[in-house]
Amino acid sequence: MEIIKNVKEMQKKASQAKKQGKKICFVPTMGFFHEGHITLMREGRKLADILAISIFVNPTQFSQGEDLDVYPRDLKGDIEKIKDIGVDWVFAPSASEMYPEGFQSYVIVEKVTRNLCGKFRPGHFRGVATICLKLFNIIKPDLAVFGEKDFQQLVTIKQMVKDLNLDLKVIGIPTVREKDGLAMSSRNIYLTPNERKKALAIFRSLKEANEMFKKGERKAIPIIKHVREILEKENGISIDYVQICDINTIEDIDKIDKKALLAVAVRIGSARLIDNIILGRD
Ligand code: AMP
Repeated sequence: MEIIKNVKEMQKKASQAKKQGKKICFVPTMGFFHEGHITLMREGRKLADILAISIFVNPTQFSQGEDLDVYPRDLKGDIEKIKDIGVDWVFAPSASEMYPEGFQSYVIVEKVTRNLCGKFRPGHFRGVATICLKLFNIIKPDLAVFGEKDFQQLVTIKQMVKDLNLDLKVIGIPTVREKDGLAMSSRNIYLTPNERKKALAIFRSLKEANEMFKKGERKAIPIIKHVREILEKENGISIDYVQICDINTIEDIDKIDKKALLAVAVRIGSARLIDNIILGRD
């Protein structure tokens, strides 16, 4: 496993590998690894000759007043956690390496970023799309692996890849959860033990919604209402959104006549947590 911090060096390595006909799979991350990240890497490992990952807390995807300065970072611990996975390259640049003075080009993916987190985190998906395109240009992957936990992000990257003709396959991996159902997230570290207990209401509400769907409910409004009721019962949870959307366009839908995304974002203490399930998938 090589740790590379320099863009030119990373680009050179990737170019050499491509010339040798090697297939590269890439997993972008912000570090502070949990089993969700590790699962993406294990899947990625199966798919190519070279497994590259990045660890970079991307400043442009944080809005004003968000948690950029306190976002958990532990490069040494991360390297230790992945030493048996078979990662070939860890690209871990500094912010000034990725955004040198004078940087001024951004990618805007339009419609699919307007709803859900796009409404609450202005500029977030512009930052995500921009850093991903930069990383794709540096690492030159044939495949890139993303988690469904950040479903709107996955759809945004797929849309960018399609629209900008990137020669790259994007793969989505189902959300990895703790035993009690909480979706794994680097941000769970912000939760106190009491807040963590309250956070279990998120997955509970998604599961109950799925039961309603399985029993035949096809209207979005009653399902959303039920999810909100469960979340509102917990003191200290404040809801950003509970919405049911088309899985490709991320537009709201009223009637669920094919697979649909039920997405939730809440604030608990200092943490903002997101989660989702796909209604009609199983
Ligand atoms: P992050 O470091 O949080 O930016 O996440 C890096 C990648 O891991 C993204 O593609 C996320 O969607 C994915 N990811 C984060 N948490 C999970 C999870 N619990 N299950 C599956 N993938 C995840």
